Amino acid sequence: MSEALLALEAEVRDDLAKTSHPSASWLKPKAGLDEQPALDVLIVGGGQSGLAMAFGLRRSQVTNILIIDKAEEGREGPWLSYARMHTLRSPKDYTGPDLDVPSLTYQSWHEARFGKADWDALDLIPRELWAEYLLWFRRAVGLTVRNGCELLEIAPAAGGLLAATVAHEGTTGILYARKIVLATGQEAMGNWTIPEPLRHLPPAQVARPSDDINFKALAGRTVAVIGAGASAFDNAAMALEAGAAEVHLLCRRAEIQVIQPYRWLTFRGFLRHFCDLDDEWRWRFMRAILELREGFPQATYDRCARFSNFHLHQGSPVEAAREKGEKIELQTPRGVVQAHFVISGAGTEIDFAERGELKNFAGNIATWADRYQPPADERNPLLGRYPYLADDYALTERVAGATPWISNVHLFAFASTMSFGPSGSSINAMTTAIPKLVYGLTRGLFRADIERYWDSFRAYDVPQAVIPAKSGR
Ligand SMILES: Cc1cc2nc3c(=O)[nH]c(=O)nc-3n(C[C@H](O)[C@H](O)[C@H](O)COP(=O)(O)OP(=O)(O)OC[C@H]3O[C@@H](n4cnc5c(N)ncnc54)[C@H](O)[C@@H]3O)c2cc1C
Repeated sequence: MSEALLALEAEVRDDLAKTSHPSASWLKPKAGLDEQPALDVLIVGGGQSGLAMAFGLRRSQVTNILIIDKAEEGREGPWLSYARMHTLRSPKDYTGPDLDVPSLTYQSWHEARFGKADWDALDLIPRELWAEYLLWFRRAVGLTVRNGCELLEIAPAAGGLLAATVAHEGTTGILYARKIVLATGQEAMGNWTIPEPLRHLPPAQVARPSDDINFKALAGRTVAVIGAGASAFDNAAMALEAGAAEVHLLCRRAEIQVIQPYRWLTFRGFLRHFCDLDDEWRWRFMRAILELREGFPQATYDRCARFSNFHLHQGSPVEAAREKGEKIELQTPRGVVQAHFVISGAGTEIDFAERGELKNFAGNIATWADRYQPPADERNPLLGRYPYLADDYALTERVAGATPWISNVHLFAFASTMSFGPSGSSINAMTTAIPKLVYGLTRGLFRADIERYWDSFRAYDVPQAVIPAKSGR
């Protein structure tokens, strides 16, 4: 490691030591059924969110925690797999998992790694460097992740604990925890959508953006990409760069969406206090924002538009699809598009049944549709499926009392968005959303042990001053 990075790590240690107050440990481990101390918090997902919340918990002296991730070390999150853009889309100065500690920011790492002039000249952050930074961050703050460890199931256990069944190194085991946070990313509560008209097509000819697509095999072929968000464009660009004969991008709207609503909402009032609004306002804002969907940056568009064999079809939702020889024929209101291969870039969809680890309680997770009925002109059944979260990001019950233990299962992922606005799965929200999550977790841990704290206070007898007995009286 370079001198500059070593110096930066020393600065990090110094900054953390100077801001560690109050540093007293305050939690007492509870024993699980295996007689081992149960974790205070089990974090599922070692992407940027899992790392940032672990860091936040450690700064609150919650140290009996574990992060697990099914991916191997360095492959957490989408950055080195299905993220197919060259750079992050968010501006380089958005802070993230550093939680406002200057020496832990991406900028500090970049300047130590490449020099200040390089940072000044940088336009957007290359995604490979973001992945490298996250690995450095994890080491610099001393976090360990148990990689290759997958959460399979969550169930209640004795003593108010949760039992997480995990698969690791070919065996399954149980981890006991007081709280579990699902930091499982974009598809935490569902999956990438395949639009209904495409669902009956041969799986070999239809892919999701999260699939390991063999773009080389698309050379000389015709490709259709459904959707006009940033990921759709990235996949179209990959096919074009791999030598596809034609790439057709089918945009549902009459005119493609070029506004980026996430830029508008990037101010502290919205990011911090959106979750404090009543249901009416939360629904109104998030419905409008999510229906607009994220716009794409100029560079994303230009990466496709420089190819003359790229065709953008606006006003072209897919109405029907059928096999025609070795091609797929896609029917749109503006005519038929034929393609050998279709990539669905239509975003993610909430469907609890898609996630095995939710199986013991999926049917009792309260959704927005269970809790709020919007006015007729604001209805959206797909958004009604989002989980309706408590103010500490905990899942809430559809039928009270059927699975009360899910109040200790917290969700910090894209699916938290309807309740919290940008929060999980968003770099620009981490600086406000992670402290709120940590606050909710520590509040729950503290309240649950209030009698022990009362007893501890009553037994406290450490004198702060010594009064000598007066002699001669
Ligand atoms: C293609 C793409 C590009 C993006 N670009 C940007 C951008 O430029 N700027 C921005 O602000 N945001 C961007 N985002 C949004 C967001 O920042 C990313 O999705 C980011 O990865 C979210 O971090 P996370 O830690 O919440 O989830 P992830 O990084 O997805 O991490 C989740 C982790 O959970 C693990 N996991 C899942 N299920 C289990 C299980 N059952 N057991 C154990 N481990 C499990 C996964 O292996 C994964 O490593 C992008 C998202 C995508 C998909």
